[in-house]
Amino acid sequence: MKLFDVYPVNDITIVKAQGSAVWDDKGQEYLDLYGGHAVISIGHTHPHYVQRITDQLNKVGFYSNSIHIPLQRELAEKLGKVSGKEDYQLFLVNSGAEANENALKLASFHNGKKKIIAFKKAFHGRTSLAVAATDNPKIVAPVNETDNVIFLPWEDQEALEIAFQQNAVSSVIIEGIQGVGGINVASAGFLQKIRSLCDEHNAVFIADSVQCGYGRSGQFFSHDHAGVNADIYTMAKGMGNGFPIGGIIISPKFKASYGLLGTTFGGNHLACAAALAVLEVIEQENLIANAEQVGNYLMEELRKLPKIKEVRGKGLMIGIDLPEELAHVKKELLFKHKIFTGEAKPNVIRLLPSLALTKAQADQFLNAIKQELN
Ligand code: PMP
Repeated sequence: MKLFDVYPVNDITIVKAQGSAVWDDKGQEYLDLYGGHAVISIGHTHPHYVQRITDQLNKVGFYSNSIHIPLQRELAEKLGKVSGKEDYQLFLVNSGAEANENALKLASFHNGKKKIIAFKKAFHGRTSLAVAATDNPKIVAPVNETDNVIFLPWEDQEALEIAFQQNAVSSVIIEGIQGVGGINVASAGFLQKIRSLCDEHNAVFIADSVQCGYGRSGQFFSHDHAGVNADIYTMAKGMGNGFPIGGIIISPKFKASYGLLGTTFGGNHLACAAALAVLEVIEQENLIANAEQVGNYLMEELRKLPKIKEVRGKGLMIGIDLPEELAHVKKELLFKHKIFTGEAKPNVIRLLPSLALTKAQADQFLNAIKQELN
């Protein structure tokens, strides 16, 4: 059988990884500032993480959700503590799209309304509702719920007010920092406006934190920078450091009932062990503060360099907007300097490294990009 070839791949095969370093099958070392697209939060093959998953696998690898799983409660408690959302509730799934799908569905169950407000350039995943709320020409699906989605321009408070007046809005879904859309940071004022309109109109504020959450921005949730509480936070990527797990953090005002949400694999033993190990390492190694410090340092230094149009981001979620004629810099970083980065549009370099990135590793990147821009 052949692969259903949907990914543009380069022919590098990674066979070994540790921290922010990865090696290919020829023994070549690379600096990983992409983290498998914001997935590697605590660094590759962290010993505590490997140990916790291995120990769990040796005890029990899987059993059904309909049997009591103490690990899920332990994870909920720990997540409440580390995120500061102690009075919220946790539902576990397997991916970011599934988290958003469930969040949008739950919002509609909660208030009996259907219309979803989403934003231009948003990315929320590839399942039915999530893709309908995604504004990306490459993945518009022929069968979805787009009729119920209203796309608004980013940061346009007036358009937001009008949309609320004209529609029975069930939910607003927003990334605190748009990732795939090119690293666009939502202002505190915009998020606060969404909060107050949701309160006024009994709509649900969904904070898509799949990419910008889990400490990446220098706060647990990027929406925290605005001092705003969402009704539902969705998470995945960095939550499992590579082990597939996602989740939704749900305000106490939502009532659970049997059959409302469900999943076979969501919250399985191994995924919970992985997610617990991630939170333990985040706490022990103070990684959220590290993301803020190293991220601020990187952005400050990048802003001193010539030719860059704009540096956007927070913490270790950084977009480097280059003029179109410099779109090749990303390739030079990979093939000449052996540094993996991400991209959004060909000319925005995205940095989504492990939250444990060191200043020395940041300097290695700065020296490389300096050479390419001079
Ligand atoms: N939301 C955001 C903000 C994302 O960046 C992504 C993935 N790029 C998703 C949702 C979908 O996550 P997954 O690929 O795990 O379904």
